[in-house]
Order: sequence, then C-alpha cells, then structure tokens
Amino acid sequence: MNSDEIMQGESLLEAYARMGISKEVYEYGNRIWDSLQERFQDVDRIAEYNQLKVIRAMQECQVSEACLLGTTGYGYDDLGRDTLEEVYAKVFHTEDALVRPQITCGTHALALALMSNLRPGDELLSPVGKPYDTLEEVIGIRPSRGSLAEYGITYRQVDLLPEGGFDYDGIRKAVGPRTRLVTIQRSKGYQTRPTLSVDRIGELITFIKGIKPDVICMVDNCYGEFVETKEPSDVGADMVVGSLIKNPGGGLAPIGGYIAGKRECVENAAYRLTSPGLGKEVGASLGILKDFYQGLFLAPTVTASALKGAVFAANLFEGLGFPVVPSGSESRHDIIQAVTFGTAEGVIAFCQGIQAAAPVDSHVSPQPSDMPGYDAKVIMAAGAFVSGSSIELSADGPIRPPYAVYFQGGLTWPHAKAGILRALQSLADKGLADGILCRKNSK
Ligand SMILES: *Cc1c(COP(=O)(O)O)cnc(C)c1O
Repeated sequence: MNSDEIMQGESLLEAYARMGISKEVYEYGNRIWDSLQERFQDVDRIAEYNQLKVIRAMQECQVSEACLLGTTGYGYDDLGRDTLEEVYAKVFHTEDALVRPQITCGTHALALALMSNLRPGDELLSPVGKPYDTLEEVIGIRPSRGSLAEYGITYRQVDLLPEGGFDYDGIRKAVGPRTRLVTIQRSKGYQTRPTLSVDRIGELITFIKGIKPDVICMVDNCYGEFVETKEPSDVGADMVVGSLIKNPGGGLAPIGGYIAGKRECVENAAYRLTSPGLGKEVGASLGILKDFYQGLFLAPTVTASALKGAVFAANLFEGLGFPVVPSGSESRHDIIQAVTFGTAEGVIAFCQGIQAAAPVDSHVSPQPSDMPGYDAKVIMAAGAFVSGSSIELSADGPIRPPYAVYFQGGLTWPHAKAGILRALQSLADKGLADGILCRKNSK
C-alpha cells in the first residue's frame, strides 16, 4: 500500500470515527466489503442494463423538455403525464400504465388494482401465503370498513410449502370458477419467507394460466423493480403494481404509485381512481413530473446502491452469527434484508443506529409505536428527504417475535455502508453484538 492510500485510509477512518464508528467496526466492515467485489460487479452490470432500458424508453417516447412541466385543474391533455405513462409501459413491456401522484402509496396502488378489477362474487387468490400487512385490511382478512370482503369479494390463500416452494396441488384445488384475480407478492415484506425471483413468478403464472387462462395475475412488485433485468410483466403478469417512494421513484419522487399492465386492467384502475367515464383523461400532474422522470432515470443505480447495502448487511451480520434472510451468498430479487436479532432491544438498537447515520433527523431517536395498518408496534428508522421513503436508507421492525429488522434502501452506496456500520456500532455499544466486537476493546 503506498502512502497516499494509507493517508486516505486514515482520513476515512477519522471520518467514520466522527460518526461514532469504531476502528474495529470499520475494519470488520472493510473485510466484508473486500470479499464482495464480484457480487457488486454483478449488481452494477444489472444496473447498466436497466439504465439503458430506461433511457431507451424515454427516447422512444420522445420525452421532451415540455414533458417536465405540469398541468393544473382537470389536467386534460397533460403531455408529460401521458408520456410518462407511455415510458413506464415501455420499461415494463406492458400495453399501458397508470403513474400518478394521486395514487398516494403502494397500498393504495394495490387496493386500486384489486378493487377496480374485481366485482362482487369474484374470488381473490394469493398462492404465495399471507400478503403484506396493510393488504389484510384491504382484502378484509382483518375486518375493515370498505374492504373487498364488504363488497362480497371472497379471498382464498395457499401458503408456500415449508421450504418455500409453491404448493401446486393446493393451488390447483384453490382455483375455482369464481377465481378472478391472483395476487403474487414478489418481495418478502415483513416475513422471513424467500423473495420470489422473476423466473419463479413466471413459473407460477404459467401454472395458474394453465388451469384458468382468463384469470388476472397481478404482482405486488414493491421493492423488486430493477433488481433483475426482467420484471414480472416480462413473464406473464397482467399487472405489476408498486410505489414511487420505493425503487422506481429513484428517491426523487415525493409521492405516487404505478400500475402497469394489460390495457383493460389499467383502464379499470383509472376509472376507479378518478371516475367512470373520465379515467386517465383527468388528474393534473401539478409540478411533479420532473421528479418522476428524473427519479425513474436514477432508479436503476439507486436500486443498485440499495442492493449493495443489503448484500453488505447480510454478510456483515451473518458473520456475527445473526440469522439473515436472504443469506449473504443468495441471489437477490428485492432490496430488503431481514436480520433477526431475537430481542426487542436488538431491533431498537439497529434502527436507532440507522437513524443516527441519516442526513435528515439524525438527532432524533426512533421508538416503537402503533402504526395504521399494522397489528404490532413497529419501530421505523428513516432520516429521509421524502417522508417515509424506503428507497432511502431505512429500517423497520415490528416488535414481535422473531424480532427481525427489515432493512432497505440507500440512495448511495457510501450512505448505505455508513448506516449499516453505524447500526452495528449501536448494537455493539449495548453489548448486543457478540463475537469479535466485544472481545476487542472498542475505541
Ligand atoms: C411497501 C409495500 C407495500 C405497501 O406500500 P406502502 O407504500 O407502504 O403503502 C405493499 N407490498 C409490499 C411487498 C411492500 O413492500
């Protein structure tokens, strides 16, 4: 190592020390990082491919400066909005897309896709187990005002097999004459089941369409966009649905959700979002379009940064004996990393460490609290520019066994790295990270 490199090493170490990160944690982190260079190259190659895919879609749709301006009022003939929806449809290889700031979040986008494409008497099937917590009230698994259940739409669920495989026999039995829509969640959400790869989603869709060709296959694509070079819509999904304050918003979108898919499915959603007869024709974009376009442009590399953070965290905590899902070496299909600490204190220390490394609100300390839509207390760390944005470095953990933290995001890899190291330090300071860190005297 030449002296320049040593100097750089020393000043970096100092910079980390000023963030409260000890030499031991920093050096342990660097050993892990060194071991991941090949993985990171693979992540970069996927980002490279997806970057070209996004640019090409923007070029083919002739995105112009005028598209970045917004409309007010009814929003008739909103060039930027309509072109952006074309761009999304090109990126996802779908017939149409609905991409709107009036879709308030991911849950809203999913609820919209479901409520607009199901009718009384229809049945909804989840062949991949329990859906994301907030969808329980949408579906009516937990009774709620306005749920699908209240409108006479029934729900059936087939759990994954214990090893994570599809229960094909169970699914065949569950698909009935009333089965109208199948919802497939790509990401694990607040569970420790594996995330589904796009290829596995494709196999499942092929199987289901083989039983009932006219069933609508919807994929909850939250956290999955741009992690692979293909999307579920490339393998037969009729609708892919997600949030713009996750991957596809690239950290810049301040609100919004999308539904990309078959023309009829998207039109149904548009009629429900605005009004029968009006559909996609109304909905002013106000001043938001530049952030939607630029966010989508940044999304492939932002997603790559988040992925590197997830892979890094998996290897870092696995090395200290904590159960992690996915494992340090597994292939990735979303940006979420689960780390099981086994105690509420571990979950809290981790989240407080993530918060302490944030660019915004680093001086506050998150505490567990009740959250609308969730059935346990949840602690959330998010020092984000966009409130609650989980493509930014963030962590949340429901305070319930097995006391796992779900960690995601990082608009830049250096921030993801610093946040994860700071979280590890926070555990070490409380004596919760056994192994190498306690035996050496920190600082
Ligand atoms: C985040 C998420 C949702 C809900 O999105 P919100 O924007 O939080 O409402 C739904 N499904 C999955 C898998 C998610 O990760």
